[in-house]
Amino acid sequence: MTRAFTEEDEKMGINIALDGPSGAGKSTIARKAAEKLGYIYVDTGAMYRSIAYHAMTNGASLDDAEQIAAQLEGLKVELTYIDGAQAVLVNGENVSDKIRTPEVSMGASKVSAVPAVRDFLLETQREIARKNDIIMDGRDIGTVVLPDAQVKLFLTATAEERADRRFKELQQKGDTSTYEEVLADINQRDYNDTHREIAPLRQAEDAVLIDSTNMTIDEVVAEIVKAAEAVSKKKSELNTERTSRRDRELMPIHAISKSRRINPVRQFFYGILRPIVMLIFKIKYKLTFEGVENIPRDGGNIFASNHRSYADPVLIALPTRVPISYMAKKELFEGNKAFKWLITAFGAFPVERGSGDTSVIDTSIEKLESGRNLVIFPEGTRSKDGKVGKGKTGVALIAAVAQTKVVPVGINFEGEKLTKGKKVVVRFGKPIDPKELGINDTSAASRKKIKKEIMDSITSLVH
Ligand code: C5P
Repeated sequence: MTRAFTEEDEKMGINIALDGPSGAGKSTIARKAAEKLGYIYVDTGAMYRSIAYHAMTNGASLDDAEQIAAQLEGLKVELTYIDGAQAVLVNGENVSDKIRTPEVSMGASKVSAVPAVRDFLLETQREIARKNDIIMDGRDIGTVVLPDAQVKLFLTATAEERADRRFKELQQKGDTSTYEEVLADINQRDYNDTHREIAPLRQAEDAVLIDSTNMTIDEVVAEIVKAAEAVSKKKSELNTERTSRRDRELMPIHAISKSRRINPVRQFFYGILRPIVMLIFKIKYKLTFEGVENIPRDGGNIFASNHRSYADPVLIALPTRVPISYMAKKELFEGNKAFKWLITAFGAFPVERGSGDTSVIDTSIEKLESGRNLVIFPEGTRSKDGKVGKGKTGVALIAAVAQTKVVPVGINFEGEKLTKGKKVVVRFGKPIDPKELGINDTSAASRKKIKKEIMDSITSLVH
């Protein structure tokens, strides 16, 4: 049921593609399996239904592809959760109940043959799948939307069985359609779905066929859960394997010598610039520093801080006597030239996020050895709500390699943005010294130990 596993899979969420004709029970099964697995259920049929509903309420003819395509302009279709149940919003309006009528079913079948409609939804569907563990149901998920899904299923049952199930469902809702009408409807939609030119309903070559005519819902769900768990297991095995491989190739210790003095010209300009910027910042914000006695007088130290705003490197640098260096995302160096010059002058150097680029470690060590202090934000990204997130181990690795102290920093202000007049408190904690922790290698255990000390300390400084 699952395809061969590649290293690419490590980066993506687990994707289960569930295709099949109308009324095969896909949505009930997908919802249940998603609940069991803790995945997100993505009902692509609901998206097509929403577009049909929108077109119908706006008086578009469902047989006119141009009119349907024109309706897409400015249209927003979102899948969300309201009170724990999946809801579909069209331009913000919750249409979840309105799209379940036989008229909208037939409408969806028609609009789904319009190429512009399929294009319109494709990126949204892929985007959800990229970021999450999902089970997505539809007609073309395994063939077109998620050809790389790790699990692909094609769920079917005879037309009569499907009509019978749908008929009972509609009856419960008080719908007065007859069994014959429901069966005719199913047959017509099967025909539409399998005969349309673009993304027709078809079983992907690598999908497993499940005929649910004589199976219970729970039996099908159990199959899916089993397949997903196998993928998940494989994924974590691959992860462990890779971590241990990385551990075997330990980075050597390269303790920095602190004897080298910082470039005197740079130090001179820094000495002039620092009080000026301090004055500007003090005028702009109600700025206080706490724990400045914890700041080492020499250079070559790491400052590890929570990340709240673009001003953070400056806030940290202001009470330190030694110029700083800090990593900044590569994109910041690609735009405005003046901006690039400014951040470089203030010690920024580029890193490519998530690239696993080890040259960053070498550059960091170089900066430390040149006598600068290095500012790192172990969380990687800015925190909007002020809470301290999970730290990455990069900072611990640099500290272990360089065998240098890490000064934890907590930047505090209320709200999301650092706006004029805000009260800002920058707290410096006691330096964490890898040598005092007995760290003399760069193994995962050592990195973990340093990282824990750093993150605990930062957390205690944020309040
Ligand atoms: O699955 P559901 O019955 O809600 O889908 C409504 C209609 O949307 C289907 O009849 C089918 O024509 C269309 N559809 C599609 N591709 C998908 C999902 C649904 O064409 N991935």
